[in-house]
Amino acid sequence: MSAAPPKKDPVAVEAEVREKIHLEILKRTGAYHANDHVLLPSGQHTSEYIEKTLVTTEPSFTEGLGGVIAKHFAQWPVDLVLSTGPGALILSHCVARAHPSRPVVVYGAKGLSRGKRRVTLPVEFQRLIRPGSRVLLVEDLVSSGTTLNLLIELVEQFGAQVVGVGCLWRRTSVEVDGKPVFSLVSRDFPTYDPVDCPLCRKGVPLNEEFVRRSSHRRPSAVQEPNAS
Ligand SMILES: [Zn+2]
Repeated sequence: MSAAPPKKDPVAVEAEVREKIHLEILKRTGAYHANDHVLLPSGQHTSEYIEKTLVTTEPSFTEGLGGVIAKHFAQWPVDLVLSTGPGALILSHCVARAHPSRPVVVYGAKGLSRGKRRVTLPVEFQRLIRPGSRVLLVEDLVSSGTTLNLLIELVEQFGAQVVGVGCLWRRTSVEVDGKPVFSLVSRDFPTYDPVDCPLCRKGVPLNEEFVRRSSHRRPSAVQEPNAS
C-alpha cells in the first residue's frame, strides 16, 4: 500500500478528494458507517452503511453541502427546487437559499396508489409550477432512482422541465434518464450473500442494529418506503 501510487488525472484526483471530504462530513453526523459488518433489511451483509435520517441533522454541514450543489448548478436558471421526504426537503432549502436564481422550494408527497408508488404535488404548490418552469430536483440519497424518476414524471406532467438533479449520495449504478446528475458522493456498497460474506469468514461480529431499528419503525405505517 505504501508504494508510489500511479499518476492520476488531476480532475479525477480533485473529485476523489472532494468525495473524501464529503464522506468525512457524513461520518461526523453519524450517518455514514464504514469498516463495519452490517445486516441489511434484505438479509444481505455489507461493510458500509448510511442512515438516511441522520444525514441532515447538522445544519451547518447541510448548508455547506447544499451550497456546493447550488454552485454546481449556478449557471442554470432555476425557478423551483423540488424534493420529497424530510431529509431531502432540508437539503433542498439549503440549495435554494444558495442558488443565484433564488428559486422557490416545493415538495411532493410520497404515497401509494393501487399498490404503485407515486409522488403528488400538494394543490397549494401547483400554481407555482407552470409550463416552461425550470426545476432542479434535490435528493439526499439516491439508491434505486425510483423516487427521482417519479419526480421527473411529475415535473413533465406540468409541462415544466428538469434542469438537473443534485444529491448528497448516489449509488454509482443508478442511471437517471438523460438528466444531468450531480452527487457529492457517488459510491456503491458491496453487499454479500451471508454464505459468501468475507466478513463472516473473518469472524467479524455482525451488527444487527439497523435491521432491529427499521423493524421497530415499520408498525407505525407512516414511514416512507426505504428505497428512494
Ligand atoms: Zn457477513
